[in-house]
Amino acid sequence: MKTIGVLTSGGDAPGMNAAIRSVTRTALAMDMSVKGIYRGFNGLLTNHIDDFSPRSVSNIIGRGGTILYTARCPEFIPIEGVRKGVQTCKNEGIDGIVVIGGDGSFRGARDLSNEGVPCVAIPATIDNDIASTNYTIGFDTAMNTAMELMDKLRDTTQSHDRCSIVEVMGRRAGYIAIHTGIACGANSILTLETKDDYTIDNAIKRIINTKTNRYRHFIIVVSEGYTAETKVDANSLAKKIEAATGIESRATILGHVQRGGTPSVRDRVAASQLGYRAVELLKEGKENRVVGFMKNSIVDYEINAALDMKKDNNDELFKIAKTISF
Ligand code: ADP
Repeated sequence: MKTIGVLTSGGDAPGMNAAIRSVTRTALAMDMSVKGIYRGFNGLLTNHIDDFSPRSVSNIIGRGGTILYTARCPEFIPIEGVRKGVQTCKNEGIDGIVVIGGDGSFRGARDLSNEGVPCVAIPATIDNDIASTNYTIGFDTAMNTAMELMDKLRDTTQSHDRCSIVEVMGRRAGYIAIHTGIACGANSILTLETKDDYTIDNAIKRIINTKTNRYRHFIIVVSEGYTAETKVDANSLAKKIEAATGIESRATILGHVQRGGTPSVRDRVAASQLGYRAVELLKEGKENRVVGFMKNSIVDYEINAALDMKKDNNDELFKIAKTISF
């Protein structure tokens, strides 16, 4: 392993830059060369690749987004696209790649490994929806952004005796919703995982049971996945809640602001740890692996095995949220 490539792919997450920096500096420190590949797997199809020095990653550890840009690359899903990427690696002298992204990106990394370019993947997604790790880069920053915005919303919600329905990101998993819901004292948290329990009707019942003449403000957190699956968007939810409870209700969709911003300490450190380990694995001759955290240790799994794992449903957190939110 003389030269490694690094790329960011799929949805962006704060801390991706810290991971790029760690991969680059670790590889250079281990006497390997580094090439930055731009716009995810696209860079392998368009030859947008730069040689990286230690200074290529200066002053990026605190920056959100990704200096390598990120993209979805449907051309990389058929095997012909992957083989074109393999040819680029041969032409560029890239012996292995660290892929930073979500589980879609892991599949691209697996396909590249199977075609002869060793890859190690690093989980980075604000949703924390990857089963092979307890933690994904970007989750902490995104939660803190959502929490800060919700705190501001709570001030005005309280002053006007309103109910705020706040939609947070999380298409397949309600991790941001459950954590920020607890952190901001939400009255109900609607996510895919709790569909049967935390229904709209139950949320309405909780408001009716809690409201008094003096206490009339509520926060309901709803995950993106929940509104998509139930086909009741946040505005319709607000109308339904207002009609049933008599409390003026407004919807706020936090949206893409949750993806940006300067990464938290946790994300910078996690990115530095996983970047280091990913390079170490390539150096040891490992491939087709994904790194992550399990019970505070750094672990790695074969990519297909990682993709087959099932994430837990946060049942304990939901129980606590329900118990203390009235
Ligand atoms: P994320 O990595 O955040 O989950 P995507 O699911 O959009 O984001 O995947 C990012 C990219 O990974 C895709 O655009 C594609 O290039 C590659 N990819 C996704 N799924 C596959 C697959 N089944 N096989 C090969 N490559 C894939």
